[in-house]
Amino acid sequence: MANVAFIGLGNMGGPMASNLLKAGHKVAVFDLFPQAVATLVAEGATTADTVAGTVTDAEFIVSMLPAGKHVEGLFLGDDGLINHIKAGALVIDSSTIDKTTVVKVATALSDKGINFIDAPVSGGVGGAQAGTLSFMVGGSASDFNTAKPVLDNMGKNIFHAGDHGAGQVAKVCNNMLLAILMSGTSEALQLGMDNGLDPKVLSEIMLQSSGRNWTLEVYNPCPGVMENVPSSNDYNGGFMTDLMAKDLGLAMDTAVQSQSATPMGTLARSLFALHAGKGNGAKDFSSIIKMFEKAK
Ligand code: NAD
Repeated sequence: MANVAFIGLGNMGGPMASNLLKAGHKVAVFDLFPQAVATLVAEGATTADTVAGTVTDAEFIVSMLPAGKHVEGLFLGDDGLINHIKAGALVIDSSTIDKTTVVKVATALSDKGINFIDAPVSGGVGGAQAGTLSFMVGGSASDFNTAKPVLDNMGKNIFHAGDHGAGQVAKVCNNMLLAILMSGTSEALQLGMDNGLDPKVLSEIMLQSSGRNWTLEVYNPCPGVMENVPSSNDYNGGFMTDLMAKDLGLAMDTAVQSQSATPMGTLARSLFALHAGKGNGAKDFSSIIKMFEKAK
């Protein structure tokens, strides 16, 4: 079992840290929200007054933060963790961020003898709680092998996508597709409802037909069709529209750099940006179905 520091205990990071504790690791935690820290401490984690205090003994440092600026600030900012992590330790950043920041942070840490992998995840809050996340790892083969036993405690499918940043490219491809599927499923369900169909019946039909996809299987956007999903909880919890809009922006940046055509992704980015701009940023991304609802 290892000494692990876990920074960023939000919707995803909290349950991921909890699974590391359950696996028997010694986990030191930190978050800007004291309540998030208190929850993990009650489960057996330790903490410190400062974030630096949580990493000094750590062999693994896992970070799960909102965006690239937070990751860069944490590791390379004023009195950043680069000055406190011991040489030979391995940083596992599971946040979804841009490839440029990944390479910048990885290179700076490497100059100090600190190893780094980008390891963004897929599977949502449910996957984080159940320990069934998919990890998409960018970094050296040897760092991948070192991280794998720790990642196995939080996920089910652990992929080595390539060098630094490759995990993030895989992640934005996946989330661009997810945004397209969620928008498409929403418009199909609304079309059915506008024509008198029960969304439960239509969902069941499409699940057994060629329209079947992940959103129909486990994350139906229509309230009342499925239990224990954000749509049946007024779109609270889950994956915020703001974060999906951020990921689609990352996908667009990636597409510009490689001069790739992404017409469906471009449309999805505009839809989610519009939806976030109308005050739905903190709601789960499946609330995009509301965009298609007719005024009563
Ligand atoms: P969240 O906003 O719930 O959690 C982020 C946490 O980071 C917050 O608790 C915040 O206080 C903390 N934080 C921010 N800056 C910090 C700092 N400098 N030091 C310590 N703590 C800090 O977000 P989330 O839903 O947990 O998502 C985290 C990352 O995972 C994002 O990059 C997101 O895109 C990605 N992701 C989310 C989901 C999902 O379903 N929620 C799924 C896959 C990937």
